Amino acid sequence: MIKSVCIYCGSSDKIHPQYLEAARQIGAAVARRGWVLWYGAGGTGLMGAVADGALQADGQVIGVMPDLFYTPSLAHFNLTRLEVVESMHQRKARLAEQADAFIALPGGYGTLEEFFEILTWAQIGLHSKPVGLLNTACYFDPLLAMIDKAQQEGFIYGEHRLLFAHAEQPEALLDALANHQAPPGLERWLTRQD
Ligand code: AMP
Repeated sequence: MIKSVCIYCGSSDKIHPQYLEAARQIGAAVARRGWVLWYGAGGTGLMGAVADGALQADGQVIGVMPDLFYTPSLAHFNLTRLEVVESMHQRKARLAEQADAFIALPGGYGTLEEFFEILTWAQIGLHSKPVGLLNTACYFDPLLAMIDKAQQEGFIYGEHRLLFAHAEQPEALLDALANHQAPPGLERWLTRQD
């Protein structure tokens, strides 16, 4: 049962307001389910919006910030709890340990890296927690097409393609994560059997 979710998302402020609105909506939807929101503790862009959405819906939000980013212009200072750690690796490990599920919202390099890292950890069996993409305004369509291409060309096994859910609307994505079942045959990459 999911009790907490980690959200990765863009820190840029130079974005269309539709992305900020979707981040606030999914933050509020997480809070309404009584799930604790874990995230990178940023106050800018979608990071600030997702936290504010959850806090305004009376949710609990825990941020984990490397001391490199712990500055007045980057951090969110009204969280339920703010943890400051020594490195990005510690931050990502803490988020990965604490959350029961992971979601990426639109973002840039940081978000894409975090999404693929947690997905890769599911692929190699380091965890079996649900992973999702919030495909606001079809932002991730080119990425989904790239992943389909990688599967068609044999670089991604079919069962690994099923390791993440995606949806355009927050509630649909949260439902998909709540109903997630690990696909069968995940150990095939180890045995190399067809
Ligand atoms: P990006 O998608 O490149 O904006 O990177 C966002 C992701 O990288 C977040 O999920 C954070 O973990 C991390 N990150 C990048 N920039 C910041 C920032 N200014 N404040 C906090 N975290 C950040």
